[in-house]
Amino acid sequence: MDEHTMFTLMVDLHRDGVRQGPGSEEETLRALELTWLDRAAQLEVADIGCGTGASTLVLARELPRARITAVDLFPEFLDILAERARVAGCPDRIETLAASMDSLPFAAESLDLIWSEGAIYTMGFTAGVEAWRPFLRRGGVIAVSEITWLRPDPPEEIRRHWNAEYPEIATAPEKIAILERNGYDLRGYFVLPSTNWTDAYYEPTEERVPAFLERHAGLPEAAELVEMERREADLYKRYRDWFSYGFYVARKR
Ligand code: SAH
Repeated sequence: MDEHTMFTLMVDLHRDGVRQGPGSEEETLRALELTWLDRAAQLEVADIGCGTGASTLVLARELPRARITAVDLFPEFLDILAERARVAGCPDRIETLAASMDSLPFAAESLDLIWSEGAIYTMGFTAGVEAWRPFLRRGGVIAVSEITWLRPDPPEEIRRHWNAEYPEIATAPEKIAILERNGYDLRGYFVLPSTNWTDAYYEPTEERVPAFLERHAGLPEAAELVEMERREADLYKRYRDWFSYGFYVARKR
């Protein structure tokens, strides 16, 4: 499948979801606790790979004086985010930016908080934490969820899958060491519970499948995408004890 068709179909399948990857409001709040930031301050925040804004809207509500730049590659997601921000009554504090996370236009030391849920794998965790660090003020915080082995000895099938999809997958101690090597001090770390994958992501996605296939009747790539997503969901269900998203919160040294 060519990349353009793949992206168009992915956006169409996921745009009506509350979120575009595993996560939940509860865990966003838990990570926010770990930042120790003064919530009443006038914080400059970026939410990178924000999708339609599941986490952006929680941050806007919890940080009432913050200004948030919501970044995603796909303007279709950002349009929905902007509408959700309007409904939530905070459109003036959220600016959307269609840009790629590997070439962001932020000024040096301009941000207090960088947020990114289920997205940094696109450029890779190491490259991401390295490239984004200059945008943070000293003492600024990064909060990022990242695919993580929960045990060091995964079975062959799931190890092969992740080595093909995202060879940077590693255990939490390895991820934390990467943060420390790149000039951050860990504030806290936790694992997303499996309901954040199943109830919050795979199940709602599956519910949108019949309408999606109807919209693209006769297009083999649509069926192919559904097949891919189902395979991924099935792998998750069989190997959920071996991997999840880790949520890492760290402060720029
Ligand atoms: N944070 C959201 C979305 C996670 S899915 C949530 O938790 O619901 C990953 C997101 O990263 C998608 O919205 C996708 O469009 C975005 N994305 C993929 N590649 C990107 C890139 N190069 N730059 C910015 N965003 C990207």
